[in-house]
Order: sequence, then structure tokens, then C-alpha cells
Amino acid sequence: MASTGGVRNHRLPEKAYQENFADIKPGLSSYQANLESSRCLYCQDAPCIAACPTGINIPSFINRIASDNSDGAAQVILEENILGGSCARVCPTEVLCEQACVRNYSPECQPVMIGRLQRYAIDHRQKNRHPFTRADQTGRSVAVIGAGPAGLACAHRLARCGHDITIFDAHSKPGGLNEYGIAAYKLVENYAQQEINFILEVGGINLKTGCRLDLDRQLKDLTIEFDAVFLGIGLGSARTLGLSGEQTDGVEEALGAIETVRQTESLPDLSVGSKVVVIGGGNTAIDIACQMRRLGANEVTIAYRRSLENMSATPHEQAFALNNGVRILPWFKPISFETEAGQLHGVRFVKTAHDKAGQLIDTNKYEVIPADKVYKAIGQSFTSDCFSSDNLARSQNGKIRVDDHFKTSMGNVWAGGDCVDKGEDLTVHAVQHGKRAAQAIDQFLQKLEV
Ligand code: SF4
Repeated sequence: MASTGGVRNHRLPEKAYQENFADIKPGLSSYQANLESSRCLYCQDAPCIAACPTGINIPSFINRIASDNSDGAAQVILEENILGGSCARVCPTEVLCEQACVRNYSPECQPVMIGRLQRYAIDHRQKNRHPFTRADQTGRSVAVIGAGPAGLACAHRLARCGHDITIFDAHSKPGGLNEYGIAAYKLVENYAQQEINFILEVGGINLKTGCRLDLDRQLKDLTIEFDAVFLGIGLGSARTLGLSGEQTDGVEEALGAIETVRQTESLPDLSVGSKVVVIGGGNTAIDIACQMRRLGANEVTIAYRRSLENMSATPHEQAFALNNGVRILPWFKPISFETEAGQLHGVRFVKTAHDKAGQLIDTNKYEVIPADKVYKAIGQSFTSDCFSSDNLARSQNGKIRVDDHFKTSMGNVWAGGDCVDKGEDLTVHAVQHGKRAAQAIDQFLQKLEV
């Protein structure tokens, strides 16, 4: 990370912005990819395949890289995961395929760099032809609601089968979290949009952005107008803490701030706090904390109410935050936002602990952490009231209930991604949901009478 020395008014020299927001994990060179691919043992019952949520045949694509066949390697990846390029960049591979890699147990204790090899294969495939051809048109139509990873994966798979797809998305750009919710240095050079352009190359997909549907009113109409509907609508509403002072200027949603950083034309013009507190323990907390440090915030603290082990951010992500100069305080639960004359100046925390039964309890120790900016990264909840009058069964947490084939309780409606009750929230999970739903929708459409 470039030095924040010489900060004027919490701003950095121009060059520092470029360096701080450059690709954090640049692609491998051909030499590096060749060398790394030679470390794969091509295990017969490869545990890395089982650990990949989309089931990519990892030894098969690595073998193709080793024989200088990047196109073939990319084909193997994209067959299972059409968003394999962005997943290679944002997946926590250290707790998925790379954790399962048997090389972890060899003397060097270092897994094969599967994620970086996957990126190499996708980046080095021939760009002048789409790897899949669309089947003859079937005359069947599918509405896909939401142009995030689940919707895009579903749309591409169904378009390949010859169905006509219309994707509706409320945002002005497609991509969902890949476009709006991931730290800027993880997906550089407009990668989310490049990947969508590639997905659309298959043909048969009509993308309608800036199109917010009133699903409570329109879902039934869509089920009549289209032969099938897929809902990949994400979550929708940020959780609140319900604490005094939460409405004060300077207390913001982390996801909104990440979107602002992702969409800005000028990083130096962004408003950046001097003393920043981030509340939460997931990847969103890490992403906003590190981005604020890289934008020149003097002090950034992540406060989390449980232990470091309980954080959903992986140890790798936590280490990344520490390396960016972010302080992480576990066992800190916010109890109020401290204000004076309407100005935010800190967050009051109570320190927590586990009692003998392992329940989280408040202690009698309190601490105020000074802050002129606070980001809440405490997750989102599903906006379930958008289906109040439709007969769409939901689970106890309000999310859409689906069966093993991602079919909802409505006749021709499937759903996937964060809006369903599968307890899986990574981009790669959303891709798998969209793919599996598309397989089920295709079977359903094939059985429809002409
Ligand atoms: Fe190769 Fe590791 Fe997978 Fe074995 S577990 S096939 S060594 S990547």
C-alpha cells in the first residue's frame, strides 16, 4: 500500500490513489502459471472439486494450463461457472478449493494456487469467440429478475438451451454485488461489465436495466406473460442497530459507501473520515475498512461483538485488514453513537464475553472510540413484504423457500442467490443456484405442451 505520508486534508498524492486501488492480486505470468500448474498432483478423487461450490473439474483445467491450452482450461471452468473470471478474483479460495487441496499436507504446506490459475485460464482464453453456442430457438421465454450473479448464471444457461430470456434489473448497470458491493481493488478495469458483455455474447438475452418491478403486483402477471420466472433479487434492506444517535450525519451503511467508491469517477473527491469506525465482522466490514484506509483515513477500527474466530471474514481477510493498518477489536458491542450539537464524535461500546454456557453477555466495561465516520456492516435482510399478496412460501427468516431444484411454491417460479433460504451467501453459491435452477427450468420447459 502506498504511504499516507503527506496527507493534506485527509487526502493522498494522486499517485497513491492509483497504487492503492490497483489490482490487489495481479494475474500470473505464463511462466508462473506453468510452474504453478506443475504442482498439481491430479488427484483421482480430487477433494478440491468437492470443495468448489460450482463443482469445477479443477485438475482437468490445471492439466490444460500445463499443456499450454488456456482455451481448453477456460472451457472446463466456464462450463460449470460462467462467472469464473470474477469468482477467481473474489472467491475466498483459502476456505474453499485451496483449503481442500492435498498440497496443504505436503512438506511445503502450500496449496496449489487454484484461484489464480483459474483467473489465468479465463484471462488468456481467445476473446474472439464465445465458448458456447446457443441451441435452436425453442420459442419458450423466461423472465429473470435481477442481473446479479444468480440471475446472470441462470440466464446464460437457459439462453444456451435456446430459450428467450429477458433480464430485469432495478439498477442502471447490471452485475449486482460484483458491480456495486465488492472492494474496488478486487475487480478492477470495469471487470464486472466486461464479464457481462461476454455472457451476453451467447445471444438470446434481452437485458432491461433501470427497471424496478413491483413484484407484489407484477409477479403473477410475469408468470402468465413468460413460460417461467427466475427470482435472483438479492436481499434489499440494510439492518439497523436501533441505537441512539444512529440517524446522525456520518453514520452510514457500509454497502452504500462501497457502491459510492466503486462508482465514483474521482477517488480524490470522495468524503473520507479521519477517524473511522466500522461495525461488523464480515467481508463487507473488511472491504469498507481497507478502502477507507487506502483513501487516506488516519485511523480505521473494526469493532465486532464476538471473537475473531466468530468473524465471518476469513483469517486471510482479517490479516489483509491488519496489513492495511486497520485495527480489529473483538468483543466490542456498540450501545450508542456519541454526538455533541448534532456532530458525531464517537461510538460507545460495552465489552462482551462468553458466560460459562457460551452465551454472549455484556460486561461492566465500557469504552468510547472516537469517530467522525461510522460504517455499519451488520448485514442485510430480505425485503419480504414485496410478496405480501402472492402465494410464495417463505422460511422463518422471511427468505423465499425453495426445494432442492430451487423451485418455489409458485407453479413456474424458481429463485436463487441471497434471497433464498439456503444459508449460502458467496458469489460462487449464487452462480451455482442460478445454474441449477436453469437446469430445472429447462426440464420444465421441455415438458410444456406446444
Ligand atoms: Fe491438484 Fe490440489 Fe486438486 Fe489435488 S487437491 S487435484 S493437488 S489442486
